[in-house]
Amino acid sequence: MYCKLCLKNTDLRESHIISETFYEKIYDDLHRMVVISLKDTKLKLIQGGIKEKLLCHNCEQKFSKWENFLKKDLVDFGKKQSKYLTFSFGDENIIQITGIRYNEFKLAILSILWRLSVSSHRYFCLYKLGVYEEKIRHILLSGIAPDESIYPIIITRHEIEKEFYSGIIMQFPPKYFRQLFTIQTYTIPPIKIKQLFAIQAFTIWGHTFKIIVNDNNCLKINLGRYLRKSGYLKIKTQELIELMSEDSVLKRIDDQDVNDIYEKMINESE
Ligand SMILES: [Zn+2]
Repeated sequence: MYCKLCLKNTDLRESHIISETFYEKIYDDLHRMVVISLKDTKLKLIQGGIKEKLLCHNCEQKFSKWENFLKKDLVDFGKKQSKYLTFSFGDENIIQITGIRYNEFKLAILSILWRLSVSSHRYFCLYKLGVYEEKIRHILLSGIAPDESIYPIIITRHEIEKEFYSGIIMQFPPKYFRQLFTIQTYTIPPIKIKQLFAIQAFTIWGHTFKIIVNDNNCLKINLGRYLRKSGYLKIKTQELIELMSEDSVLKRIDDQDVNDIYEKMINESE
């Protein structure tokens, strides 16, 4: 079978689409988790995360190196203290962080987004990168993260009643926005076109990552809120409950079937 990253015909591993390291707080003592969806009404327990034959051994190793950096950083973001990152606190809900290893951090996030897109598992059908799938594959193969304004990333940290909460992985449908920009021509008046941009988002280890799927510099954004190449990042803290909307799986949290399955997990783990 062909590895989706290096395209070599070789033995493939059962790869986690989202690395197992991010499931740590989600599994029960029997290494199980429950997938809650807006569409699937029947809940069931899944053993050991969602896997698929995607990558060869070498490519999996490459991803796992980046993921370990990301995980360490996210754990520290959660605790708001670190041996090598520096935190400063301005506004009550804003944390400013310096010292992030930009290259590994950004590649880890892009590699998760890319796996969500190449996966054929029905749970990840919300993530389809289209032409950007191949572009991001090349970035991941090169091991060099793109500039801060290319696939820019915003991160939000989640709490439940002021306590950092890492026990949820969430997916979101893509959101779109349009921006008007001028094409470089000599015509008068200049030609302006509206370009459509997609934002893809996912939540792992208590943080929601929003990525603007775009690889050219025409996008006009205020980089202040995005991950910077210098290793600087400003993150906003938000109560998880604020994400509860009609298209958010959080609205299922008080449903009877969801409560029942959590109770079953607790009873069987004892
Ligand atoms: Zn490979």
